[in-house]
Amino acid sequence: MNETESKACIVCGHNDRLGIRIMDAFICHLCESEMVKTPVEDVRYPFFVQQLKQIWVSTEG
Ligand SMILES: [Zn+2]
Repeated sequence: MNETESKACIVCGHNDRLGIRIMDAFICHLCESEMVKTPVEDVRYPFFVQQLKQIWVSTEG
């Protein structure tokens, strides 16, 4: 059972065990909740989107 293995968050780089996994990428629970409550007009929103884009780009081929 390695489900609780800590991984490096792609957004903040912090190692954590709690969070969401998308493909091979990991987003810690702190960043996840940050993203959820970040409005589209927030200055950090493009940053989050950019980080998420990396996931799709890196898994494409
Ligand atoms: Zn994080």
